[in-house]
Amino acid sequence: MIKQFAEVIVDVPAMQTNQPYTYSIPTELINQVFPGMRVIVPFGNRKVLGFAINISEKEPDVSFALKDIEEVLDLTPVLNTELLQLANWLAQWTFSFKISCLQVMLPAAMRASYSKTIKLTSTEISPAVQKLFGDKNEIPFDTKTLTASAFKELSKLKRANQAEVLYQVRDRAKAKKVTAIQGCLSSDQLASARETLRANAAKSFQMLDYLTTLGLEQVTLKKAMQDSDLSAAQFTSAEKKGWLVKTKVEKYRDPYREAVIEQSQPKQLKPAQLTAVERINQAITDHQKSVFLLQGVTGSGKTEVYLQTIATALEKGQTALMLVPEISLTPQMVRRVKGRFGSRVAVLHSGLSEGEKYDEWRRIERHEAQVVVGARSAVFAPLEDIGIIIMDEEHETSYKQEDMPEYNARDVAIKRGEWHNCPVVLGSATPSLESRARAQKGVYEWLRLDERINGQPLPEVNLVDMRQALKTAPALDISAPLLSAIEQRLAQNEQVVLMLNRRGYSSFLMCRECGFVLKCPNCDISLTLHMDSRSMKCHYCGHEEAIPRTCPSCQSKKIRYYGTGTEKVEKELQELLPTAKILRMDVDTTRRKGAHAKILQQFGSKEANILLGTQMIAKGLDFPDVTLVGVLNADTSLSLPNFRSAERTFQLLTQVSGRAGRAEKTGEVLIQTFNPEHYAIQLAKNQNYEKFFGIEMNMRHRGGYPPYFFTTQIVVSGGSEAAVAKKIFGINGQLQKVLSPQAVILGPTPKPIMRINNQFYYQLVIKYKKEPKLEQFLEELLLSSQKDAARNLKVKIDRDPVDFV
Ligand code: ADP
Ligand code: ZN
Ligand code: ZN
Repeated sequence: MIKQFAEVIVDVPAMQTNQPYTYSIPTELINQVFPGMRVIVPFGNRKVLGFAINISEKEPDVSFALKDIEEVLDLTPVLNTELLQLANWLAQWTFSFKISCLQVMLPAAMRASYSKTIKLTSTEISPAVQKLFGDKNEIPFDTKTLTASAFKELSKLKRANQAEVLYQVRDRAKAKKVTAIQGCLSSDQLASARETLRANAAKSFQMLDYLTTLGLEQVTLKKAMQDSDLSAAQFTSAEKKGWLVKTKVEKYRDPYREAVIEQSQPKQLKPAQLTAVERINQAITDHQKSVFLLQGVTGSGKTEVYLQTIATALEKGQTALMLVPEISLTPQMVRRVKGRFGSRVAVLHSGLSEGEKYDEWRRIERHEAQVVVGARSAVFAPLEDIGIIIMDEEHETSYKQEDMPEYNARDVAIKRGEWHNCPVVLGSATPSLESRARAQKGVYEWLRLDERINGQPLPEVNLVDMRQALKTAPALDISAPLLSAIEQRLAQNEQVVLMLNRRGYSSFLMCRECGFVLKCPNCDISLTLHMDSRSMKCHYCGHEEAIPRTCPSCQSKKIRYYGTGTEKVEKELQELLPTAKILRMDVDTTRRKGAHAKILQQFGSKEANILLGTQMIAKGLDFPDVTLVGVLNADTSLSLPNFRSAERTFQLLTQVSGRAGRAEKTGEVLIQTFNPEHYAIQLAKNQNYEKFFGIEMNMRHRGGYPPYFFTTQIVVSGGSEAAVAKKIFGINGQLQKVLSPQAVILGPTPKPIMRINNQFYYQLVIKYKKEPKLEQFLEELLLSSQKDAARNLKVKIDRDPVDFV
């Protein structure tokens, strides 16, 4: 009899390794377990989820008895060969555990959830315990919901060996099922059924009529009821008579079901678009794994290039992957892609429920959808035979995941392009310096769209020097030139977009008498005032408290609100422009599902004339009547402790400027700034990316930053500052021995926000060109980090970090 063994990567928090464990496959599961399937296996005293990565018939040479696989969760592999290999690469590239790389590729619903129950093993129990258990002998054991005293009782019980804790693994993935009916009689049989009826059985005649038209087809009960005008009870009684059978069929939760989407036709391409499309099509046809940088100003028709090259891949029977930043995955964008490719499109983004995401994932897996549009994690969509991969707004930092595995979707996209031998198109108006430099060197093929489709010049951008303007400003956040520009547009019945740059901005309560600032008790940051809830909130840990009336330090009444929030600006605006209709878009107004889309829809149908918002409004919006864009505070992102702060500021200002004058009307942009001479602001004003690129490359070269050097960041965090500092200085010492003299270590230092939720954060950044021993050192650091985890010390390794705060 044959024997089979499975190598399994298991999910054991705090005990991760990258080595698989070997399990034997029980007889009844022989030839049913394949690489890429999820399994449940025993591990110590619990059961855990794992991924089978290798099956063999050769008995491993070990001195202990192998345990059996307990259960197989899938009938077919959920990860194919490509994705399994990609997970291996990802683990190595990002210094992550394999299990987290395997899990990140699947929709959340397919990651197992664990629950604990506690089961009595003794009958001699105290009345208090009796009360907890009631008439059951097994109850959920959840530290979050149990009261402290109940928890104490149960712990005592366990120590006395009167109860055991059981771990359950649950697969949350559930297909949604609905009832369907299916005809099961021939027309002769239906005719004879008719003869047995009494003449006044009108509903039964109606049912038989309906079943005659239905034939042997299957329809959902809901549709059958609509079509036949018969009730559910009548279908049940027909089933009892043997006229039809009821079944359960799977139903996809389609998040865009309601929306009626207009078909769109390919547009006649402009010459620059045509050149780009032809080059990319050629690469599709030739199965070239080339990377293209499609650099095109906002409104230059990049999206049309995406759509037409996707069409080419589909014509060849291949599939297409299109990545967009979460924030620009607006209904407008989805409509454009669905309008072209209809039901062949699957959409993946964070606004979907777990069930909806799971359904979209399965539509892809079953080859029912050939085009995937999605945000970061969609880069792992289970598409096969990919013909083209597109990444719009390739410079966006939201493509970088901050938790393990700390991957950049751009790297993954290129890796997948290599596997599929297909082109990867990186599109942007303001490419990342890294990509633009690679295009310069010929590593990427450079395609450019330098003109807007409508022939309109880019909007005129003017700066308002707030150092002067603030003296005569009608409100704290709105200068006189901006106010008069707004008034003028409103008088012409045009629309205005105003952006408040929240990045790096703090708004806080300060005492004018003694300078006291109200801070979060758990974190090293000031609390933010929220008008809607009339409270002070911490944006990092969620701490909330009442607004103090007097200074907690000196009791003075002169405690005042400083800084700016969208709510405050909205109020200021409304006072200055009583008749204006203002829509506000920020984290607070978009928290509810669909709220984001609703605000955009209201603005699009001109229910309001001003859209005021945070960074969220900078991208992807295309409203023809917007002729003025105002940036209230350009500089706040300049002051971030990050070598990319100029690049980010430039990108943001360029992007938001692109919202003006999209159609026939010319647009204007007004930027309020305290740093009008800064090169990022000056060049954003002139919309001169190329010059910005030149200057910024120079700065990076002098500072020894990317793209000239690589960076890797190590962050240690934990509850004890002393332990955190000791650990990071220890790592620093080891690094000194491993690195060559050409490498530079910045730090170790506390992070700019050192304490969040009572955890302390220290970091160091390594800058280097070529360090042959570094990879292995970091890999070992990762593996040894599990020992530290037991002492509440976290070590995070981040290649090419984007955030330093
Ligand atoms: P980008 O993605 O570069 O910002 P878009 O693809 O949104 O630019 O194009 C801007 C506008 O021009 C859109 O309304 C789009 O429908 C339109 N457009 C694009 N290409 C063409 C074309 N070849 N002919 C006519 N209109 C076009
Ligand atoms: Zn806090
Ligand atoms: Zn005070």
